[in-house]
Amino acid sequence: MIYLDHQASSPLLPKVLDAMLPYLTEEHANPHSDDHAAGWRAADAIAQAREKIAGRLGADAGEVIFTSGATEANNLAILGLCCEPVPRNRILVGAIEHKSVLAPARALSERGFKVITLPVDASGIVDLEALSRLLDDRVLLVSVQLVNNEIGAVQPVDRIAAMAHAVGALVHCDAAQALAWRAIDVNALGIDLLSLSGHKTGGPKGVGALYARHDVRVQLRPLIFGGEQEGGLRAGTLPTPLCVGLGVACASEPDDSAVRAWQGRRDSLRDFLRAHEPNMVIHGPVVGRHPGNLNVGFPGVDADQIIAQLQPDIAVSRGSACTSGIPEPSHVLRAIGLDAVACAEAVRISLGPLTTEQELERTAAAFARALLAARAEGRIAVA
Ligand code: PMP
Repeated sequence: MIYLDHQASSPLLPKVLDAMLPYLTEEHANPHSDDHAAGWRAADAIAQAREKIAGRLGADAGEVIFTSGATEANNLAILGLCCEPVPRNRILVGAIEHKSVLAPARALSERGFKVITLPVDASGIVDLEALSRLLDDRVLLVSVQLVNNEIGAVQPVDRIAAMAHAVGALVHCDAAQALAWRAIDVNALGIDLLSLSGHKTGGPKGVGALYARHDVRVQLRPLIFGGEQEGGLRAGTLPTPLCVGLGVACASEPDDSAVRAWQGRRDSLRDFLRAHEPNMVIHGPVVGRHPGNLNVGFPGVDADQIIAQLQPDIAVSRGSACTSGIPEPSHVLRAIGLDAVACAEAVRISLGPLTTEQELERTAAAFARALLAARAEGRIAVA
């Protein structure tokens, strides 16, 4: 199979597996057991992983809280910060945020907070003028992702943070889709809270982290109660192999030339597809998007039909795996102005850093066959 759904989940890097293996096979101890050397070794492995993650972000180890993924990190940032709606009770969230940001924000609107959606332009970039109009001393938190999972849009988070800080608001950033390909320095970006996910960046599924600046961390309240793990902010035994894997996945900065090559292969695929199908439309920003992201539509053919025709050889998707099964059109594509038909036609193709040119040529030919077959079949569904 040619796997082109890296934004849903990326393959585990061999070096990550190697680092995890001892903690899956030989080192069984609970990392919170401080009565014996095996427990100390597990605790030590977690401490090193925490250091690596912090180092990658330009943070202190004490500012990193392990979670089960970016979903939990987003929930902890938003619900953990916004406990009482006084004296500031406004939360601003980007229109194309992941559901794991939008849903906790929506939950807060039932608890006395006023949640306001920040509009985006046709490329998915937050409208800074609208943000400036909405920012005042009633705003507690602004939550804007670094990179979008459907259209690859990259937000000007540093500018957003500077504007938010000018009125005393805090900034949360969901960086789940950014870590695999760009540097993230929380201080340079001016971010107060930042969410990470292991499986979007060559790490394991089921682990992530929330960075919370020291002075913001003390304002957070836990969502999960029990033991005193993670300084009382997140009860539960830490999964040593997963934490170690996340540490290794985060450890090194992406190499610029590899990222440029990745982007170049994505652009080749776009050109191959367009050569077969000149009417193809591209959704999302023209430049500056996630290097592996392509979101395209073939007028007159539903994405479901194409994707089904490509099975079992090629994995692409209709969009976010977290919204699959939801019959409504993607809120991301709606927010950038697509109508329901264009949303139903959109296919997300997400390449990994090691996807080869040969795989892309085969993909383009398979798309051409799938489109022919789908057209012969006739349109089967319009959302
Ligand atoms: N935020 C974004 C932008 C994502 O793409 C995802 C995964 N689809 C998440 C959050 C949730 O991450 P996790 O699977 O680690 O909970």
